Amino acid sequence: LKETKQGWYLFYEEALKDQLLEESELENVFGKALRSGEFFIQIQPKYSFATGRLIGGEALVRWKHPEKGLLTPSQFIPLFEKHNLLIPLDMYVLKLVCKLLKRWEEEGKPLLPISVNQSRAHLLVTDYEESLVSLVDHFNVDHHLMEFELTETLFLHDMTHLASVLTTLRSQGFLVSLDDFGSGYSSLTMLKDVQIDVIKMDQGFFTDLTSNEQGRVVIQHVIAMAKDLGITTIAEGVESEEQARMLASMGCDGVQGYFYSQPLEVSEYEQLLADDTPR
Ligand code: C2E
Ligand code: CA
Ligand code: CA
Ligand code: CA
Repeated sequence: LKETKQGWYLFYEEALKDQLLEESELENVFGKALRSGEFFIQIQPKYSFATGRLIGGEALVRWKHPEKGLLTPSQFIPLFEKHNLLIPLDMYVLKLVCKLLKRWEEEGKPLLPISVNQSRAHLLVTDYEESLVSLVDHFNVDHHLMEFELTETLFLHDMTHLASVLTTLRSQGFLVSLDDFGSGYSSLTMLKDVQIDVIKMDQGFFTDLTSNEQGRVVIQHVIAMAKDLGITTIAEGVESEEQARMLASMGCDGVQGYFYSQPLEVSEYEQLLADDTPR
């Protein structure tokens, strides 16, 4: 194994290829998988610290591969992104979520936002935001129920263009959140120029929260800064009660993580919607 990052990356890609399929066949396999409904979503609940109640969920894609079994995003998303298949996949996921929200509305279920992930490259595509809007409108879904989670590496690119795309989406009532906050370098810079609704603090940001006094100060101030900017803070990947307690005491708004719930099958999430008692 080479020690460079590049080396690791190549190794990783090789492994992916072996594991999944010949790259040359990828497009065919993807098309077939899409048509035969092999992609589906699980939903991970988000809770409010203040009320203990469900405040929404994040849609996470999975691939039920006919031979390989259940695949998680890390096993196929990097490869898809490299081969320009991630936009069609993310559009498909958005469609699934729209159908779900529509059905819940028709069934009179309580309506809470569902977020979908959007990878960094997408918003650089001309008129991408218009494709998002027209898909959601095709299903006649309330924009306030749709949240777009953007990975922060996105903001390394053209900030002016990005700012205008996000302004368009937000002016139409969609929620925009900054995913993986604290996992990279551009988070703060980007908050200077771009308006968003939610910061999702990365797990790596607070795993050592209980032992790291300095880290606690940083997080506390990030939460306070977000408040001053009118931004909601969500801690993701919370795995212990101790972490949850500290984040709550620092004024963090919401939480998502194994301590509260794993990503759920849609039917299980619907159960939660129907029976929402505070946790
Ligand atoms: P993410 O957006 O940061 O999503 C959270 C990931 O953390 C999910 O992994 C979730 O299952 C996992 N997680 C949640 N709570 C905990 C916890 O307490 N501890 C730990 N260790 N992990 C937790 P998953 O589903 O494997 O997704 C991985 C990543 O793949 C996502 O990270 C997101 O960047 C990407 N992804 C997932 N679905 C989609 C999609 O439809 N489109 C795109 N473009 N990316 C997606
Ligand atoms: Ca996310
Ligand atoms: Ca994240
Ligand atoms: Ca993450």
